[in-house]
Amino acid sequence: MYSVGSSRVFDPYVQVIQNANITQYIWTKSLLQPLWDYLRSQHQDALRSPLFPVVISVSTYFAVCTFYMILDLLAPRCPLIRRYKIHPEQHVTWEDIFKTLWHTGYNHLIYVFPAAVGQWYWRPPIPLQEEAPLVSEFLIGILGCTILFDFQYYFWHMMHHKVRWLYTTFHAIHHEYYAPFSWSTQYLSAWELVSVGFWTTIDPIILQCHCLTGFTFMVFNIWISVDDHSGYDFPWALHNLIPFGLWGGTVKHDVHHQKPQSHFAPFFSHWDWLCGTHCECKRSPAVLEMQTKRRKASEDQN
Ligand SMILES: [Zn+2]
Ligand SMILES: [Zn+2]
Repeated sequence: MYSVGSSRVFDPYVQVIQNANITQYIWTKSLLQPLWDYLRSQHQDALRSPLFPVVISVSTYFAVCTFYMILDLLAPRCPLIRRYKIHPEQHVTWEDIFKTLWHTGYNHLIYVFPAAVGQWYWRPPIPLQEEAPLVSEFLIGILGCTILFDFQYYFWHMMHHKVRWLYTTFHAIHHEYYAPFSWSTQYLSAWELVSVGFWTTIDPIILQCHCLTGFTFMVFNIWISVDDHSGYDFPWALHNLIPFGLWGGTVKHDVHHQKPQSHFAPFFSHWDWLCGTHCECKRSPAVLEMQTKRRKASEDQN
């Protein structure tokens, strides 16, 4: 019915624009409907497979980590990239990459893969709704899942720092790196990996999200988790775009790896503010320069 090659997946959008009935369309149909119809008609079996969430999570993780790994390998010779690093003096070595990759591969082979096969064997295929979610439902769903995940991880994380036995048994491995880098995101104990995977799976179900919202949340969650550990403070990163410091992002999680009793929240800042675990952050030379220029410009205006 729809085919990307002949761009027929975009035909309903083109028709709406040609007929100039955009307002009516927005009120009566979801803008995601043509995309959802295309996915259902062309990739139904893949979408319904219990293995699908695992495949998209793992492939997103490897794709985002590889992107940052290329930056890390270029950074020592490229000052333009180094300017955006929170720790420009720290270089990621091949030894760090192999060590974290080996551990990630081991965790996936021993824990994630058998769990995925078990799901595939015992869980019936996921039913696919005919209607796509409204764009507002889709965005609110992703925001809701992110807020819920942030709450769950904050308290899990705080407990695993406050209780000595929990820290040494389950969480200390993740703190082997003082300055985190992309592949250290899933340098975790099996218990932490299972906890994080469980919330990512269960949160869209708790909030009764559409499965398109659920899949997108999984991809988004992996992306922001890797971004937290990337060690880069780009001006276009979420923590520099979302106002009032509401989003902690890379700069706050980076501080957590140096001051482990602060910044327990993975994404937002509100739990750290409310529970008094917030502290000052280190910025990249590029962002510091930008902030100084802005401050000078506003002082000159006054
Ligand atoms: Zn971390
Ligand atoms: Zn920690």
